[in-house]
Amino acid sequence: MRKKIVAGNWKMNTLPAEGVELAKSVAAGRGEVCECVNFIVCPPFTHLSQVVEALKGSTIAVGAQNCAAEAKGAYTGEVAASMIAALGCEYVILGHSERRQYYGETSETLNKKMVQAYANGLKPIYCVGESLEERKAGKHFDVCKAQIEEVVFNLSEEQFKDLVIAYEPVWAIGTGETATAEQAQEIHAYIREVLASKFGAAAAECPILYGGSCKPSNAAEIFAKEDVDGGLIGGAALKAEDFLAIGKGF
Ligand code: PEP
Repeated sequence: MRKKIVAGNWKMNTLPAEGVELAKSVAAGRGEVCECVNFIVCPPFTHLSQVVEALKGSTIAVGAQNCAAEAKGAYTGEVAASMIAALGCEYVILGHSERRQYYGETSETLNKKMVQAYANGLKPIYCVGESLEERKAGKHFDVCKAQIEEVVFNLSEEQFKDLVIAYEPVWAIGTGETATAEQAQEIHAYIREVLASKFGAAAAECPILYGGSCKPSNAAEIFAKEDVDGGLIGGAALKAEDFLAIGKGF
């Protein structure tokens, strides 16, 4: 049985007090959702510590949205994986399209970040996905394959067991445009095939999340697909009610 996951990427939203409030509201309503759903929240670095504290005793895990490619040293403005782990975080999002697009993250950088994440016991949520132009040109399969081959294929079998993948078509992120459940299933199944070509049967255990304008009204239809194991949620993760309602989509 693959893990079912609903992860919230808060991006650069919420002040510390608002983040703590949001986390507490998610924890308060968590009981309404099947225990089989694993919730993760990924606040900004500035209040990771307070959110971890607020969620102590709950079943909601905390992740960071990024980590540095280096272990420590003269890298002004960066946050090391060891620092994130020391706060009690369990996950880290790596390779989000906004990081690839606005901060020039390449597979080379992401390989280094993966090394740091694993070295510090953080489980990566590795994002892949194509742009609108790539989708229109029918290149979405190749783009996702390359993003996986260039980074995930460098993991050991042991590391692969802790990996979560998020398929996030760039054209669906924050646009209100969602991939259809069929489009999601088609590419999730393909991603699983690519993973199986390297990791064999273990690919059947890897959670693959869908991300891109996922909301309470469309989550159930998308999550019903065989190879969709949950969602990475942006905008709708900022309202506890919506985030929890997405979890009820299972
Ligand atoms: C995201 O950026 O990870 C995301 C899925 O955003 P949204 O849900 O707002 O499209």
